[in-house]
Amino acid sequence: MNPVLFSLLFIFGACIGSFLNVVIFRLPKNMSLFVPASHCFACKTPVKISDNIPILGYFILRGKCRTCKTSFSSRYALVEFFSAIITCLIFFIFNFSEYFFIYTSLTYALIAITFIDLDHLIIPNGFILLGLFSIFILYFFKFIPLEWKDGLLGAIVFGGFLFLLGFFGELILKKESIGFGDVKLGIVLGGLIGFKSSVLALYLSFFAAAVGIVFLMGLKKINRSNPIPFGPYISLGSLLTILTSTQNGENIIINWYIRTMF
Ligand SMILES: [Zn+2]
Repeated sequence: MNPVLFSLLFIFGACIGSFLNVVIFRLPKNMSLFVPASHCFACKTPVKISDNIPILGYFILRGKCRTCKTSFSSRYALVEFFSAIITCLIFFIFNFSEYFFIYTSLTYALIAITFIDLDHLIIPNGFILLGLFSIFILYFFKFIPLEWKDGLLGAIVFGGFLFLLGFFGELILKKESIGFGDVKLGIVLGGLIGFKSSVLALYLSFFAAAVGIVFLMGLKKINRSNPIPFGPYISLGSLLTILTSTQNGENIIINWYIRTMF
């Protein structure tokens, strides 16, 4: 545990989170990710560099534009903080192994996907194409410590299960439940985490969805007629699977389950 290294990772993660905020806001609107620079949505005044510090910027400005005092969401700071913490956690578990680079990149993408899905109920195809391209490179050059057959089986199980569920869900409920975007995301995730982890990630996704939906209904935030984005739950299930994995390719929950059951 090196405090300097962890601080640097935290700052790095917060900066990535800052970029993810831009992606979340601009990508679904087909806006450029790089120009113009950050500015107030109300008065268009550019954010000063000294106010644009990840996480801290929100507190320096007390959540309001310096010029016109219009409030902005604390979600920006939360996304930055979450990216920072996750970067440190993944380093804590995997050190600078291949897993660190694969899982941090994957988690950053999942954070963006989650908030875009919550805001717009879509998972942009760009993420899927980038994911498929990464999978091809990772397995072709053997940068990923998994057998390609394991990845293929993971993709079939993760994507296939969501597809079947969406198909029968639509037959029974007469409305779209799990969209094709979720199926494509499942294929990419399964390809990256392999068969065993895919089964666990699916299980945790549905568990998270059940808890989340009951909770939101209890708070009267949603009712039966609301469309429920499933991408955030798939992302959460996959993230929990990653965070319970170990450097030698095992998983704490799967091992515990096998020990308890057999
Ligand atoms: Zn303003």
